[in-house]
Amino acid sequence: MLNKQQHYIDGAWVDSLGGAPMEVINPSNEAPVATITLGSETDTNTAVAAARRAFDDWSITDKNTRIELLERLRSQYEERAPQMAEMISLEMGAPMALSQTAQVGAGLGHLKTAIRELKGFEFERGLNERSPNDQIHYEAIGVAALITPWNWPMNQVILKVVPALAAGCTVILKPSEIAPLSSLLLAEMIDSAGFPAGVFNLVNGDGMGVGSQLSAHPDVDMVSFTGSTRAGIAITKAAADTVKRVSLELGGKGANIIFADADEKAVTRGVRHCFNNTGQSCNAPTRMLVERSLYNQAVETAAAVAAKTEIGAAELEGRHIGPVVSEAQYNKIQGLIKAGIDEGARLVAGGLGKPEGFERGYFVKPTIFADVNNDMVIAREEVFGPVLTIIPFDSEEEAIQIANDTPLRIN
Ligand code: NAD
Repeated sequence: MLNKQQHYIDGAWVDSLGGAPMEVINPSNEAPVATITLGSETDTNTAVAAARRAFDDWSITDKNTRIELLERLRSQYEERAPQMAEMISLEMGAPMALSQTAQVGAGLGHLKTAIRELKGFEFERGLNERSPNDQIHYEAIGVAALITPWNWPMNQVILKVVPALAAGCTVILKPSEIAPLSSLLLAEMIDSAGFPAGVFNLVNGDGMGVGSQLSAHPDVDMVSFTGSTRAGIAITKAAADTVKRVSLELGGKGANIIFADADEKAVTRGVRHCFNNTGQSCNAPTRMLVERSLYNQAVETAAAVAAKTEIGAAELEGRHIGPVVSEAQYNKIQGLIKAGIDEGARLVAGGLGKPEGFERGYFVKPTIFADVNNDMVIAREEVFGPVLTIIPFDSEEEAIQIANDTPLRIN
């Protein structure tokens, strides 16, 4: 059992002042693997104050200083990639092969892109040719609170942390309380890379606590959030009173339109893409819209792909899909599968309950619903599990109309 109860504030690992312990659960076997601390308001305030103090100096550092530090972070990340993959698999259940490649790789890709962009970015430039004496100076926004979800942890965390640091902002990261281990490892790397104290801070916590406190904090200038639409709305409201800049990446119900002349692998690819990361991707193509003449065959193919999809624990090698992240998520998915059955969608693969042989762990049967119409709950709500809905269409116009017919609020 890992003890991860400290936060990283002002360049040091520190004990929480008044926080509460929380266990991190391995979704493959439901065993606790680490204890973190859900931070208190004092922890939040301490981190924000550290970021505020560090901002004045950090925001005017020479660009080359920032490039050098980010290059050191990149070396750390590359060296410790195997450990990062283990942490991701342990905390959120992505199979090792996926963690080692796409999960860790997405973070590295964002690191490289940010460094490349920083190298080419001119913070001071002329307005235009006609006004040679007018200058544009790009300045860092200030203290940025970065709130992230659990499904692609390093993808989302690095996509926020590194560009913010590159721009000269100081940051407080609040990773998902469900998947905090990869972020704690990243904080170790940032520490080893030698960033000045207070530039990067990590406070663990939940949405109602540290998340809400950061969103409303008068000394936070911007909140960047990825997660559910529900939380995005709450954050936007909380940030309004202090007129913060807010950047949101929320949920989705992606449509994959397959016409009759699509290549023969289009359906198989669509199912696999939907099930990738056990369906826990905001861009998962979860509504497969199929032209009527191909429809029956597509349903058959999709059901066969689902039936052949292997399931397994995250620590095992192989191309299987893992469990979903938590008991809450498992229960939510079961509720949505039941809603699909109750509404009369035709279940052609998977369904309720755990797959055979998987009593422990949050494993879900790869599930396909056919004969879905776009008014059904399973066509409107983001399931965030390996559940695909198939909807027939007769014309391109109809397909586009169905694809665009999503509720403003998804979950
Ligand atoms: P979530 O919204 O429950 O949690 C995300 C983060 O927000 C966590 O750190 C959580 O502690 C925090 N949070 C929750 N409520 C909050 C509040 N009221 N105030 C401040 N912070 C709060 O989402 P999740 O379950 O971790 O992630 C799944 C969701 O994220 C899905 O809807 C998915 O589509 C979405 N997502 C979107 C993208 C994208 O790029 N658009 C990427 C990944 C995930």
